[in-house]
This record gives sequence, structure tokens and C-alpha cells, in this order.
Amino acid sequence: MQPDGAKIVLAASDSESSEYLRSTWRQMLLACLPARYARYMSDISFDNEVSPDGQAKYVPHGLRIVESLLLEKFDPDDIRVCYPDQLHLFVGDATRVVGIHAHNPLGITFATDVYVHLYGRYLEPVNAAEFRRLITHSVLRQHKHHLKIIVGGPGAWQIDKKDLQDEWLIDCLVDGEAEDVALSLFEAAVRGEPLPRKVSGHSPALERIPRIRHRSTLGVVEITRGCGRGCDFCSVALRRGKSIPLDQILDNVRVQVAEGADSILLTTEDLFLYEQGPKFETNFPALKRLFDSVAGVPGVNYVMQTHGTMAPAVLNPGMIEELSEVAVGKSVGKHRASTHPEKRFANLFIGMETGSVRLFKQHMKGKAYPFRPEQWPDVILKGMDVLNRNNWFPFCTWIIGLPGETAADTKESLDLLFALRGTKCAVTPTLFVPLEETRLERRGHKSAKLIELTDLQWEFFFTCWRYNLDFFRNTPRAHWTANLGVPIYYYALGRRLFGEQIKYPLFRLGHVPERLMRGKLYLDLSKGEPKYRVPDHVEVPSHDMRPILPEAY
Ligand code: SF4
Repeated sequence: MQPDGAKIVLAASDSESSEYLRSTWRQMLLACLPARYARYMSDISFDNEVSPDGQAKYVPHGLRIVESLLLEKFDPDDIRVCYPDQLHLFVGDATRVVGIHAHNPLGITFATDVYVHLYGRYLEPVNAAEFRRLITHSVLRQHKHHLKIIVGGPGAWQIDKKDLQDEWLIDCLVDGEAEDVALSLFEAAVRGEPLPRKVSGHSPALERIPRIRHRSTLGVVEITRGCGRGCDFCSVALRRGKSIPLDQILDNVRVQVAEGADSILLTTEDLFLYEQGPKFETNFPALKRLFDSVAGVPGVNYVMQTHGTMAPAVLNPGMIEELSEVAVGKSVGKHRASTHPEKRFANLFIGMETGSVRLFKQHMKGKAYPFRPEQWPDVILKGMDVLNRNNWFPFCTWIIGLPGETAADTKESLDLLFALRGTKCAVTPTLFVPLEETRLERRGHKSAKLIELTDLQWEFFFTCWRYNLDFFRNTPRAHWTANLGVPIYYYALGRRLFGEQIKYPLFRLGHVPERLMRGKLYLDLSKGEPKYRVPDHVEVPSHDMRPILPEAY
């Protein structure tokens, strides 16, 4: 305990630090659900563990990276890391700078900006409420005259966009990656020098990415950074993928375990880019070595992974089978549909984005490389088949309202969704948002809005949730709740907010028989054959027929 506080204090909100039930899904819910009702709507918690000295036991990985960078120059006693409720223990007369992590501080990204608007007036999502509680903490205001506030993280741009920097007394907003900018900013702040209002961090050299010194939320261990597949809506689209060396990864795993973590979340834009070969070629031996090595660290009971793409599963089904020993066998997730003896399943976040070949070609033609855009539906269906057979139940996101989306495009997405019926996955519709540093943002495209969705887009939206309800909440109680709640919501609120066009799409979520809605919706789930079927084989195009991608840097 330092009576005058620590020179540097790093803090993250409770919800962004939460690792309740070791669930990445619940972490996402905290960004989506309205704060006022969240605890009634789902099994969530953001009560975090605090060390005896008041410091946080685990915080988001990005904050641990900043901590490691600062430790290159500062004494460990100069730095304290905490949650909002302990901020007063560490911010005092000696404090010169407070660094705050902002993953999704206002909840205005693809997935998270949708659900808080379904209740009518804007209801602040949990993450936003918790971030506001942190940034407006009275101890920061009390000591502001002698300290600087730096806010950074993947969602820092949201504060700029909503013009909240001055209201929240933030001296400097840091966008992008921290390695090349954080240390000099904090040093300047400690010297009491003025800071730039906004700084953009670019992709650092691999050797600048530090080893972490303390535990990250959910046991996050980065295995790659960047991607390079070039999707128009993605901020790492043209950042060439780089892989963290295995010895550094394992050191980071050991650090987590030494501080009480028993699960590790391998964090990546695309799992299959780890130690990749040329043109996104999966390096299976390296991937297998990675999984086995991480699982082999004493104290690691669970291993999970974040994101991936579908094409590698199609190209190399045997790889999925071999990775499953760890990815499934050491997964936290369980589902009765799994054929694993303990009913475990592996999760993987996969961006499916659209069923429209036209939109795919226009905005993301490298996503399925080496396959061509015309093969996207086949890649999705074949890849899902491979994953499901090996007990990988991916969490798939779709983007509604991509720039230029027409009714024909939405119908193609619905066709693909129909073909996915009965597969083992989550399908999550999100609304397009022009994220910072993406080509679609630079071209001036605007966010899609719930209020502007067409009847087809609503059908897509609620059909996704019907699938999810039937697969992940297939209990009489959950179904009765939906079946009763849907008409109540529609007549009490939904019709007034979004018009009658949501009626039948919403009724599908409430299990109204399809025959009663015939002719009202594009799909009829009770009959008819899907336009697409799982192909026996997806032909790999010859080199000269593969998509030409923009150069990554
Ligand atoms: S595949 Fe596309 S969306 Fe996914 S990380 Fe790469 S560029 Fe971004």
C-alpha cells in the first residue's frame, strides 16, 4: 500500500475483465445486453477476483501488454493494476498517469450495437455502463490536476466518434497496437508534459511484442496478430499475419497458470494462420505442436481458441480431427449434441458474413482463399460438416446491411442459412458498422440501422435466433418463454418500434407454425429443399484461377 498512490495506475472495467464461467460468449453478452436488465436476462456476472494488496488478479490482455512495455523502463513498484472499486487505493497525490483499457467502451461495434435498440429507447449496454463508472470515478476527478488519463484499446475510437474525450477528461486516446507508442506516452505523462489528443499505433515488429508478466482475463495468450486476407470491413485486413514464437507463447501460458488460471484462450484473428506458409497455407505440424505444448503445461486444464476461417477445414479435414484431441478434449464447453464421451465441443468464432456471392466478391474475396467467391456457399457447408463431425460447434457471425446489399443478396444469405439448418453452431446476425481504419470507413459508408432493415433482413435476423434457440436453449422452459414473449413483445413494443414487417420474422422465433405464415416469409422451414447442399468435394482452383488479393504490409 502506497499512501500517496502509485506513479502509474492501469485499470480496466469489471465487465471487460470478467471471466465468469470461462465463457467468451458471456463476455460478448456483457457488451450487448442492456445494463438495467442484464442480470435478469442471462446467467452473467462480473464480480472479479482481487489480490490481497487490492490489485486485479486478471485484466484484459491489452492492458497486460501495456504493463509489460512499461516495466521495460519503470520499477514494478511504480505500477499498479486494478478494477474500478480499488482505484481509490492506488490513485493519490503521487499518481501521474492512469491508463485505462477500452475494448468496447460504448458498445457500438457489429454485434453489440444491435440488441440494446430492441427495447425502444437506447438502453446502455453493460460494458458501456461499466466503462462510464470507471472513467467518471470520483478519485480521477479529485486528482486530475496532477495526472494524465490515457485510454487505449480496440474500442478507443468509439470515444472519439461520440465526442466524449473532453467530457471524460481524457488527455490521450490511443488507437491500434500499443507497442511502438505506449512507453513514450507514459514517460511523457510522468514528466508532466502535454500529450497528443490522439495517437495511432501501427503493427509493430514481431520482436517488439513483449512477454506478459501477469495473468490476463480468460487466460488470453496471443498466438498471432494480423491477417492479410483483405476484407473491406476489417481493421486488420491488410496487416500481414505474424506468429508469436512458441517459447514466448509457452512463457505466457506459464505466467497465467502461476497466477491461478487453469484455462488458456489462444487468441488470434485466424487460428489457421499460426506459423502459416505462403498464401495462408496452414502449417499443420506447427499448429499441432502448439496445441500439444500448451495443453502439456502443468496446470492447464482447458484450452480454447478464438477465431478461425472456414477454408482450412475444407482443405484439410484430417487436421481438424487431429487438433480435436486438445481443442475438443480440453474445451470448457459441453453440449448434449456432442459425440465426445464427456459431451465437450470446441468453439471457434468464424465470420460467415454473407451468403451472397456478389457481396463476397465485392468485400471479402480473400476470406476463403484459395477458393473462389463462387465457391463460398460450398466452403461454408463443407467446412461446417467437417467441423461438426469432429465436435467443433462454431460461433458464426453474419453482417446484415453491408454496403450495397440488395434484396437478392439477402435472399442468398437466407438460402445459405436454410441449408445450415440442423447443423451444430450458433449463427449471430450483426449489423454493419464502418469500423475505424477499414476501407469501408474510409469510403464514408454509414452503419446499418435496425429501424431501416427490410422484411427480408428481419427474416434473416430472427431465423438466426430461432436456430440458436433450438440448438442452444432447447428446453421446454426456454421455448415457452420465447413462445409467450414474442407476441407480447410484438404487440406491446416491436410493432410500434419497427413496424408490421417484423411480425412474421419475429413469430418464427416464437415457433408459430410455418404453415400459418406461408406466403409471408421468403423461407418455409417446414417444406422445400434448400438451394444448397453439402458438396461431396470442393475443388481447389488452379493457381491462376484463385482470387487476387491486395498486398498486405
Ligand atoms: S479473414 Fe477478413 S475479417 Fe477475418 S481477420 Fe482476416 S481480414 Fe479480418
